[in-house]
Amino acid sequence: MPVEIEKIISLSKRRGFIFQSSEIYGGLASCWDYGPLGVELKQNIKHAWWREMVYLRDDVFGLDAAILMHPKVWEASGHTTSFSDPFLTCRDCNKYYRQDSLEIKDNTCPSCGKPFSNQVTRANLMLETQLGPLKETALNVYLRPETAQGIFVNFANILVTKHPKLPFGIAQIGKAFRNEITTGNFTFRTREFEQMELEYFVPPDEDEKYYEYWINQRLNWYIKLGIKKENLRLRAHSKEELAHYAKACTDIEYNFPFGWMELEGIANRKDFDLCQHTQFSGVELTYFDDQKRVRFYPYIIEPSGGVDRALLAFLIDAYREEKVKGEKRVVLGLDRRLAPFKVAVLPLLSNRSEIVEMAKKIFLELRQNFVTVYDDTASIGRLYRRQDEIGTVYCVTVDVQSLEDKKVTVRDRDTMLQERIGLDNLQEYLQVKLNLC
Ligand code: ATP
Repeated sequence: MPVEIEKIISLSKRRGFIFQSSEIYGGLASCWDYGPLGVELKQNIKHAWWREMVYLRDDVFGLDAAILMHPKVWEASGHTTSFSDPFLTCRDCNKYYRQDSLEIKDNTCPSCGKPFSNQVTRANLMLETQLGPLKETALNVYLRPETAQGIFVNFANILVTKHPKLPFGIAQIGKAFRNEITTGNFTFRTREFEQMELEYFVPPDEDEKYYEYWINQRLNWYIKLGIKKENLRLRAHSKEELAHYAKACTDIEYNFPFGWMELEGIANRKDFDLCQHTQFSGVELTYFDDQKRVRFYPYIIEPSGGVDRALLAFLIDAYREEKVKGEKRVVLGLDRRLAPFKVAVLPLLSNRSEIVEMAKKIFLELRQNFVTVYDDTASIGRLYRRQDEIGTVYCVTVDVQSLEDKKVTVRDRDTMLQERIGLDNLQEYLQVKLNLC
């Protein structure tokens, strides 16, 4: 049974993971700010993705393309004509909902209960802005609705600078913007979000093999980072559901508290994008196989996931409540690589200056190697609970005995087991236990 989303929203706000955007002005719908904890978690998710997709592979190159692109990009990609979602508007209360919203039952408005008319409206999801100081001469551009197009238009640049052989990929993490019709499922669907996208270029006759390969790779990435297998499933798109550019698409879905929803999509985009950009730009985006002496458009397999959606799933999946000695303990059992803080240094008695001094010294040393926090603002029991709730992997406690034997207590978040470790070995001990990369 997944945790209620209200608990995640409350924890996020209370402990500084996620805040409503512009909250002091009443907030801005479907926009969110990441606080001190959230920003760490986000960075760790992006790092884990980049490590897996770029650093540990020989065939993938990184890219960071601009958010603003030439308007023709979006004509070529089909976004100006067909990037829209169908929605229903209630004639009684004027609320609008995506047609596929799980909240709609029996074609009645979830807000006021009146039946919807059969009229379905479509609105383009791209956010527009103007470049240039004068309105009359300004260039209308879009805030990119996906990072993928920045990769396609750099295809030739990567060929020329890196001389890769097929198959090879280009990876990018970056902001994307969509004027979404949202349903208030916290950060699940936002108007500004980050995507992690790989465009993997393959010989056309090997597309199906690599499509399957990437579905498995991506599914395993979430499992390796701690998401429970039973909360993940694959859903292949039906023919009717496929986007105009896709030969096939499979979603990795997560069992969110509000239903099974897409976490990431893996699409076989065929040669659609390279052909379109060739046609619209006049620059031929083909690949030359110098062994077979043939020139062709590679097919593209695209695993495309959202950072924010992944973060929400990791938070939900990691959250657990337990009873310890009759008291409720909230633990965020995040994988050690994702946890915002790896170590907390806590003095057992904050009114004993030698203990505080020693703890602060240890903190300064540890933070050279691990993301570490120091806290002496409550009793030790409360300090532990605080760190458990934000997923800190180890707590290092300095007590009276530490002054004598130069040892500290290291407490494991998940097992709550405590070990006495000598100061000389502390760095190495944590290095081995955390095994970070
Ligand atoms: P959905 O059907 O949920 O709107 P989509 O199929 O339009 O998603 P894609 O265009 O395939 O999504 O984008 C790839 C990934 O980017 C999604 O799997 C999701 O993780 C993320 N993503 C897309 N739109 C949003 C959004 N509005 N807010 C947060 N993440 C998003």
